[in-house]
Amino acid sequence: MGARLIVAHLDLDAFFAAVEELEEPELRTKPLIVGGDPHGRGVVATANYQARTFGIHSAMSCAEALRRCPHAVFVRPRHAVYREYSQHVWETVRGVVPTVERTGLDEGYLDVGEVAEDFLGARKVAEAVQTAVRAATSLTCALGVSTSKVVAKIASDHRKPGGLTVVPAGTEARFLAPFAVRRLPGVGPKAEQRLVAAGVETVGALAGLGDGELKRLLPGSVGRVLRDRARGIDPRPLELSTERISISVENTFERDLTDRAQLHAELRGMARQVAEHLQKTGRTARTVSTKVRYTDFSIRSRSTSLRVGIDDGEQIGDLACGLLDRALADRPGALRLVGVGVSGLASHQQLALV
Ligand SMILES: [Mg+2]
Repeated sequence: MGARLIVAHLDLDAFFAAVEELEEPELRTKPLIVGGDPHGRGVVATANYQARTFGIHSAMSCAEALRRCPHAVFVRPRHAVYREYSQHVWETVRGVVPTVERTGLDEGYLDVGEVAEDFLGARKVAEAVQTAVRAATSLTCALGVSTSKVVAKIASDHRKPGGLTVVPAGTEARFLAPFAVRRLPGVGPKAEQRLVAAGVETVGALAGLGDGELKRLLPGSVGRVLRDRARGIDPRPLELSTERISISVENTFERDLTDRAQLHAELRGMARQVAEHLQKTGRTARTVSTKVRYTDFSIRSRSTSLRVGIDDGEQIGDLACGLLDRALADRPGALRLVGVGVSGLASHQQLALV
């Protein structure tokens, strides 16, 4: 994450339907439903905004959608096409905000703190993301920006389609308070039922529950987590999958290695390769990771993030060796593989955005 915690949630508007409209422009003026067979047991995957005016929404049966809007156009999902558009979208997003956690084809979290100093800057970055996505793909998206995932997610849904909602630090609880309690991520149907039955209908009411009543309504640790979220407190970091490790090199050894000097030499060699690749593509990396695989095939990885991006092989090598030492201090043992990866990539021209 960036130096300041500023997270955006991005959600493409009616994604599957929007892609079908781009591929077939005359669909744009019609209620359009992407989903299964309306004469069978099909379910609505996505409805365009025209169709939504008839009360049609995702997860509704297509038969019901047909009843509500007999002249709607039904098309079957074409996931390969959506994947292509999605890939183009996320490449475009990464051109503005390099560190991203994709949670679906059409949504994900952005580490805006990496490129913006404050919420004013964050708004500009979010607008730049919307403009770039629209220019590259003709698709529109809504964004929510705040200090945590939970608030950003609710904020992105606040002004759809195409909206931008910024909830600056200190205003999270006030923003969340009026929403129905089921809108809070983590509140499932069962929890909702218990809360509403006890008169806790809004996020604000949940935020104000005392310990005793919270325990009675939502036993175990889940109650505390949800009440924290209702107060805008959500420590979940961005999940940075291997997808985010944009450049990595690894090596499986002929025989398992324990010699520290040899392991360090291996890592430094890989760090030089990674650095070369960064330099060639005119990029810097803010995060360096070391991955190790033990003889029982279990994997550990350790990473460290810097305030400033680097592209120097020796620096990356030093960090990678330090991370290896940490991993081996946590769990000693012979290794069959080590790897070095860098992420949080930025191209030199993007640094001007800061
Ligand atoms: Mg969406």
